[in-house]
Order: sequence, then C-alpha cells, then structure tokens
Amino acid sequence: MDYVKLINCMRCGMCLPNCPTYKETFLETASPRGRVALVRKLQEGELEQSERLLEYLSLCLDCQACASACPCGVNAGELVAEFTCERKSDTGLNFMEDLVLRKLVPHPDRLETSMVPMRMYQKTGLQKLVRTLGVLKMFPKPLERMEGLLPTLPSRPLRQEISEVTPAVGTERGTVGFFLGCVMSLIFSDASRATIQLLSSLGYRVITPRNQVCCGAPNMLGGDLDGLKEAAYTNVSIFDGYELDYIVTDCGGCGAELKKYGHHIEGDKAASFSAKVRDISQLLALHTEELTAQLKPLPMKVTYHDPCHIAHCQGIRKEPRDLLKLVPGLEYQELESADACCGSAGTYNINRPEMSDRILKRKLDTVRDSGAQILVTSNPGCLLQLKKGLADHLPHVKIMHLTEILARSIAG
Ligand code: SF4
Ligand code: SF4
Repeated sequence: MDYVKLINCMRCGMCLPNCPTYKETFLETASPRGRVALVRKLQEGELEQSERLLEYLSLCLDCQACASACPCGVNAGELVAEFTCERKSDTGLNFMEDLVLRKLVPHPDRLETSMVPMRMYQKTGLQKLVRTLGVLKMFPKPLERMEGLLPTLPSRPLRQEISEVTPAVGTERGTVGFFLGCVMSLIFSDASRATIQLLSSLGYRVITPRNQVCCGAPNMLGGDLDGLKEAAYTNVSIFDGYELDYIVTDCGGCGAELKKYGHHIEGDKAASFSAKVRDISQLLALHTEELTAQLKPLPMKVTYHDPCHIAHCQGIRKEPRDLLKLVPGLEYQELESADACCGSAGTYNINRPEMSDRILKRKLDTVRDSGAQILVTSNPGCLLQLKKGLADHLPHVKIMHLTEILARSIAG
C-alpha cells in the first residue's frame, strides 16, 4: 500500500457528510477519516488486527463518495479495499471465497449453469409458492435476502443469444467492443440488448467476444487481487484480437474496473485497453444529434440515481442526465442526493442487511419526494437493490436502465 495516500489525510472532515455509514452512525470509526486513521495505525504497527477493528473496516461500502468530497485526493474506500487485499494475500482465500471467486465467477459457462436451477424455480411457479407460504423465513437470513433480490430472469443469458458481430445500421462510423457484464447478461439482458441496438443504430459495428470473462470486480471486493489480475490479463488479450475504436460497457461496476486495468497490470496493451473503455452514456453523448432524430415522445416523469461506480469512480454525472433530457415529452426531475449510495455495494446488501436497508430507505424517501414514475440508473447492483426496494415500498415507481428508456423512446 502506498503510505503517502494514508498520510495525505489532513483530518478536515469534509468527507463526513458524504459517507453513508457515518450518516447512519455518527461514529468516527465508521467515517472515511476514521477508516484512513485505522488503516494508517495498522500499517504503522500501532494497532493490531482485531475482530472489532476489521468489523469497522468491513462496514465500508467502497462507494467512494468520500473521494468525491476530499480536497486532498484521499480515497478511503480504495484504501480499505487495498488493505483487505493485502490481508487476504497473507491469510489466503477461505473455502467459499475460493469456490466463488476462483471456480465460479471467472467461468461464464459455469456461472450460466449455476443460474439454471433459479430459472426452473421461477418457471415452475415454485418461487411464487415459496414466497406466498413464507417458507424462506426458516432458512438462513442471507439465503432469504438473496432470494428476495432475485427478479424474473430472462429465458436465456444474453451471451448465449447475441451474435458475436452486430452490424452497423447505415454507414459504418467505427467498431466497438461490447463488454458484457455477468449480471447484465444473466439478469438484465433486455438492457444490454438495447445497448447493442443503440450502438448499431448510431452506425457502430458491435463486437461482443463470447469468450470474455467477468471484469474482476467481485475479486477486488473479496480481497482477491490475483484473481482480478487474471481476469484483466484474459480480457485484455481477448479484446486485443480486434481493431476497436472503443470498448463500451453499460455496467457501472465493470466500467470502473476495466478503466483500472492499466493500473493493475503492466504493459502497453492493458493501458491501451483501459484508455478505450467508455461507459455507454459517454459514447451516446457524442451523438446527441443522431439520437434526437430517432427519439419519439415519452410523456413520463423520470428521475436518475447515480451509481457510485459511475459518478464517484468514473466522474460521469452530466452525460446520463443530458441524454434523458433529449427525450421529447419526458419530464426530468433531479433526485435529491442523487449520488448517495443505495446500499447495494456488491454483496453488502446480503452480508450487511441492517445497514444496507437503512441506506436504501434514505434513497427511497428521495425517490418518493421526486414524484417520478420511472427511476433510471445504469448499474446492475443498483438495479437489483432498487427494484426490490421499490417493489416493497413504492410499487407505483418502476426502474429502468438508461439504455432501456432510450430504446423505448426510439421504439415509440
Ligand atoms: S479523507 Fe480527505 S476529506 Fe476526509 S478528513 Fe481526510 S483529508 Fe479531509
Ligand atoms: S467508501 Fe463510502 S462507506 Fe467507505 S468510507 Fe468512503 S464514503 Fe464511507
């Protein structure tokens, strides 16, 4: 770990109002400033790793809202993640972590097979029966949470359906590689299908390499830096096999990780890969004239939630809003604290249900106050968390991915 990053904190406290866990607890140990101090004291050997101390650190969502507020460029979330990686490289992964992060996540075929029982569970009507009878209350809490978050799955993952090459509509202006995120392909395939169609309708030939693997974000979250590096090497070498103008993703978490490949692994190829990565909103924002010509009226009141991995990690805030405002008839309402975390944060909503629910409640209150009919966002974790929250507390508000709402406007 870069010690300088730790000593850069001047303890001004400007990050405190941005931190979701500090806002809920008002504890210094649950604040960015406190976390930086704890990691620093651990590095300096003045503190020993204890259960309690690790517990404080693991309460961090790695939302990086603190980094957006810090005048000194300190990123407490990233420092905690780096500390976890260093700790895990000493202790090694446990059995479950090894199973999930090494044996399952990096293998798209296995991931897809693992979802088959879930699909059957929904298709046979068993899910409806289980939910009606409340059977899951008898199972461990994490299982009940996971089941509750599971939306209706598509009949097949997008990776199995989509052609590797989608031709450009009209005159070809360039070629993009599409990075198909695992959750987007497995669960939100309609949104990624809309993304590919949008790119194609704007004149891009879209290449979706079938052998690409998970971006490695789950490895980073789990403290498995070696697993992340393996994913990075694999994806860089796969996309290097094509002549691409851009590498596009519609998943905020993937985009943030892909843009850091050049930092995580050495070599020109990784740096060039990362330099080509664009969130879909960044690329669409280059073509507002062509998009405007295709968009048809959509008379709806819409608001936008900034995923942390898009706003705080990639600094993208203007483009998604500008794109929504292009849709004729759409009434755009800014959401209060739109860039505050929704409490999803990878598996945080399963491992930390109580804190996650408190953070989610704040977000849902702002959505209610906005009066919007549609909540738009662009990250699968946020989509899962907010879809469940809206279904439970604001069923009249629907959630859509940015590209879904644009595609719906184009379809009229
Ligand atoms: S992390 Fe940044 S904003 Fe927070 S106390 Fe330290 S210097 Fe101030
Ligand atoms: S990453 Fe998020 S939860 Fe963690 S310290 Fe920063 S603001 Fe707080």
